[in-house]
Amino acid sequence: MNILIDMIKLRAAMIENPSITLPEAYFYPDININGLKTIRELAAFSFSCRRCEDAPCISVCPAEALEKVESGIIERHTNLCVSCKSCVTICPFGTMMSDFFEHRRNRDNLYDLNFESDIARFIMSCPEGTVTLIESEEVPENNIYRLNEKVLIRDFVYSTEKQ
Ligand code: SF4
Ligand code: SF4
Repeated sequence: MNILIDMIKLRAAMIENPSITLPEAYFYPDININGLKTIRELAAFSFSCRRCEDAPCISVCPAEALEKVESGIIERHTNLCVSCKSCVTICPFGTMMSDFFEHRRNRDNLYDLNFESDIARFIMSCPEGTVTLIESEEVPENNIYRLNEKVLIRDFVYSTEKQ
């Protein structure tokens, strides 16, 4: 069973009701490898980031915390990031949201998708219809792509690799 997070519906829900706070979730086979990054951050860099050639987010970062890795995806080194949010301000496409960079997270709103109990609570806390459990795999014609072994994302993908 996969978790499908519908980023298109989530954004629409946020526009309709600006007071909505999106619950945060993470999933790693080994959390120590990549640091604590939320599913939304990983999804934004993987799917909606334009992968600018001379990425202004990288140039502006005072801590050299952003790097374009071999796949072309921007990766944030959490041990270097000082949460200044300069990258959020300079990105011309609004890829990032400032709450990606909070160092202290509210454990009550942070779900570890490695655990079934957290998955159920995460789904219940999301805006209705934005997160579901599905059996199917990637369905590119429906804008559904795999983020990791547990999570599928529905979003409009900019990368030509995914089109
Ligand atoms: S928020 Fe972090 S990644 Fe972004 S510019 Fe500041 S230090 Fe760099
Ligand atoms: S500036 Fe924005 S769109 Fe461009 S690479 Fe950075 S995050 Fe992606």
